[in-house]
This record gives sequence, C-alpha cells and structure tokens, in this order.
Amino acid sequence: MQLLTISDLQTQFFTSHGVAHAVDGVSLHVDKGEPLAIVGESGCGKTMLALSIMRLVPSPPGKIVSGSIRLGDTELLTLPEKDMQRIRGNRIGMIFQEPMTSLNPVFKVGEQIAEALRLHRKLSQKDAKDMAVDMLHAVGIPEARRRAAAYPHELSGGMRQRVVIAMALACDPELVLADEPTTALDVTIQAQILELMMELQHKRQASVIYITHDLGVVAQTCTRVAVMYAGHIVEESPVEDIFHEPLHPYTKGLMRSVPRIDQDQTLRPISGLVPNLYDLPTGCRFHPRCPYAMDKCREQAPELVRDGSRRVRCWLHAS
Ligand code: SF4
Repeated sequence: MQLLTISDLQTQFFTSHGVAHAVDGVSLHVDKGEPLAIVGESGCGKTMLALSIMRLVPSPPGKIVSGSIRLGDTELLTLPEKDMQRIRGNRIGMIFQEPMTSLNPVFKVGEQIAEALRLHRKLSQKDAKDMAVDMLHAVGIPEARRRAAAYPHELSGGMRQRVVIAMALACDPELVLADEPTTALDVTIQAQILELMMELQHKRQASVIYITHDLGVVAQTCTRVAVMYAGHIVEESPVEDIFHEPLHPYTKGLMRSVPRIDQDQTLRPISGLVPNLYDLPTGCRFHPRCPYAMDKCREQAPELVRDGSRRVRCWLHAS
C-alpha cells in the first residue's frame, strides 16, 4: 500500500543567474513500512526533494512550482501552513546529518523531546517528560533519566544523533526522512545508528526515506533505490538488482566509484562535473560525462521507462 506518492514534482530556484531546476518532474512512491533510498552526488536535487516533501524549500528564491505530494489521503501541496505544521514532526519525522542543527543548544535534551510530544500529542508535562525518557531508553541511551537532563553539548556526537532519532520517532510518524543520518559520525557509531534505525523502523512499521551518497548505507538498510542526477530520477530499482546489474551508465559509475573489500578494485571517480542546474546540457543530462554517449543522446532527452520492477532513463534501454 502506497504511503507517499509524488507526481511530476517541480521545484525551482529563481535568481539573478536564471532558473535552477532543482527537482525536475520527479514521480516516486514509498510503500507503507518500506525503507527507500535516494542516492546521487551533491547538488543532484535529493535534499531539495526532501525539503519539498516537508514544504521547507527556502522561499524565496525557491518555490514548488507544480506537481503533487500525497501522504495517505492528504495532498500536502495545497494544505494550509498551520495544518502542515501539525504534519511535520507528527506524521513525518526528520533526521538530519548534523544533530546540532536539529537540537536547541540551550534546552536539555529531555525537554526538547517532551516539547515535541506536548505539541503534537497534548500530553501533560509529567507524561511528556516520562515518555521522553522512555524514548531515550528505546534508542539505546544508557542512564536515560540522567541523560534527559543533559544539554546537547554534554553528549557525544553518536549520542546526540540518537537523541535526534528519539525526537523524530517520538510521535510515531508514518514517514521518516533521514538526510545523510550517519555521515558526520565515525564508522563504528554509523553502524550502530543504522542498526538502531532499521530496528525501530521494523518495530514501528514506519516508511523511511534515506537520502544519501553512501551506497554502503543503501545496501545495509533499503529494499529499493532511486538514483537522482541533475534534478531528476535516472534509475529506480530493487536494491539487489542495482548492485548486481546497474542499468544506467551513471549508476554504473557510482558503483565503480565505491571501494569494495571483496574485489581488488581501484577507486574510480566519475569523470567530469555535475551539471549546472541553471544551464543543463541538451538531450540526456548525463551525456557530457557518459562513456556510451551517441549523437541521439546529445539531441533528445530520454524518458524514464519502466521495465518490470525497474525504471531507467537512457537510450540504451529504451525499447
Ligand atoms: Fe549515456 Fe546516452 Fe544513456 Fe545518456 S542516454 S546515459 S548519454 S547512453
């Protein structure tokens, strides 16, 4: 059953340099309880897609120009702002890369979780505080009652990210948006946090969108992956298919750029630069970097074509 359905979403930035097509005709869905990954290099539009779902695109100069984002039966794009505020943190939870951007440095962490609960769940002060301690315990913070009285700077980076996860999950959201949730953490803590998120996602049957450039995170956590390039989706596949047989030349490049311990393989970055969103290449947006580019690729833009459980945007796979 689909929980989130995005149809032909266009988010643009209007500046003195022109119009940047940050999200350009994205259509995507997430099933109930599904962990979906959105991957791509910096500037491909993946974070702007997440901000569009939350209706937090910086405006001006950004604007959601057209399309539809449905959460269950609710169309988010036409919702009055006060109703959208009730959805943020309640039906949709957010986990960002740097915990300090989500936590207020002058409030104790337990108070911050309790405040979110009081706002959305109308609990008494005492019940909200007790529930905040329960949440800290659920995300594996030892001595949860004592830590609830700590300020964010008194906790380690890994512990702070656990607090952010506790805050994001406190109101039992149907959907969690996790934007590079472990990038700022060291490798051991990264693994613990991902395991924790998977466990909580499974237990609570929440849908999670992992936004990441790290294919290791994708392999570990997700069942389906959408690859974004220059504002649109170029491939979408079940995770095992994309690792076993990537179809789009950009996805192949991403796979080759990842070091693998099971293969003696030199790390090869994708040559060329990410295109300027104000001045996109003609035809296929990947053609200046694509080793398979043909004349047709420079002139005509391929559509995203479905083939069974996969979708790909490339003339090599157009039937
Ligand atoms: Fe490469 Fe052409 Fe496919 Fe684009 S359409 S990815 S340029 S082969």
